[in-house]
Amino acid sequence: QDDVQDEGYFATYNHYDIHKEMLQDTVRTESYLECIKSNVDVFRNKVVLDVGCGTGILSMACLKYGQAKMVIAVDMSDMIYDAMAIAKENNMDESKLVFIHGRIEDVTLPVEKVDIIISEWMGYFLLFECMLESIIFARNQYLDKENGLVLPDDFSINMSAFHSDRLYHEHVDYWSNVYGFEMNTITKNILADGHVMIVPAEDIVTSDCCIKNLDVYTCSNDDIGFTHPFTLQVLKSGSISGFVCHFDVNFSKNLIEKVHFSTSPRSPSTHWKQTVFFLPRLYSVQEGEDIQGKLVCQRHPHEKRGLIIHIHVFDSKFKFYLE
Ligand code: SAH
Repeated sequence: QDDVQDEGYFATYNHYDIHKEMLQDTVRTESYLECIKSNVDVFRNKVVLDVGCGTGILSMACLKYGQAKMVIAVDMSDMIYDAMAIAKENNMDESKLVFIHGRIEDVTLPVEKVDIIISEWMGYFLLFECMLESIIFARNQYLDKENGLVLPDDFSINMSAFHSDRLYHEHVDYWSNVYGFEMNTITKNILADGHVMIVPAEDIVTSDCCIKNLDVYTCSNDDIGFTHPFTLQVLKSGSISGFVCHFDVNFSKNLIEKVHFSTSPRSPSTHWKQTVFFLPRLYSVQEGEDIQGKLVCQRHPHEKRGLIIHIHVFDSKFKFYLE
């Protein structure tokens, strides 16, 4: 069952379209490149492991800009065959750039330890897809314990509440009248799912609250499930349509130049957009009031890479699926 699900997961990365979407996310890709280019003294002569190399963009950058001694690029998807050809196209030194097709959990690396692990593993709501587990595996198995670096290394998930008649109409109310037919059956599903979409910054009506900090050096698989209280201060009286989550990414520990990017509604948008949880009705709130509650994130019991998010608030409990 697990293997069947995972075949589907890796198959989504076989096609160039998804890689194009990631490459064209300039906030994402330029943050990685900036980290490499502004920390050449950190990368120079180091052995780097690129977990999930995709097109090989980060591996090539570590060699070309970072002056790494060797880069080991691992990917389970078939995109790695294109990455091999791309490396040739760019005259990468084959003795310094080693491609390995397979799951990081299964492959044998040509070295016992690496100095740097670089990876772009983040999913919607940061943790969706649970690729973090593969990074933890690589860290435990291959990272030099004394001086090894994992990039990026420091993350937070944040939430706030928003009001948007437009988003609520487009996504929720839409189903109550479809060419004159009621499709409220679907509305139930909409309200039970987390949705990936851009929320305009001006729709945010509360302060932000951090609901999870993640340090890639110390985290474990247990971090994928967590419970965190939140307090959102209402900045604008009116009603709220739901909650919106975003995450922040830092390249920080032991670097010369730190790099940061955010997937917040207040920052330039990325391909992760934001993750929205609609409430079944509008809740009225007053400026200055605190919305208090707790968010529980659990692994999906049947979908290996899925999550279930519970939001306890307004004396109710709302359950959302990310699958
Ligand atoms: N590094 C590339 C691609 C990032 S997408 C870039 O920045 O553009 C993540 C990649 O990780 C996908 O290509 C996926 O196939 C790969 N991947 C995910 N889990 C993996 C695992 N356990 N072992 C090997 N590759 C994995």
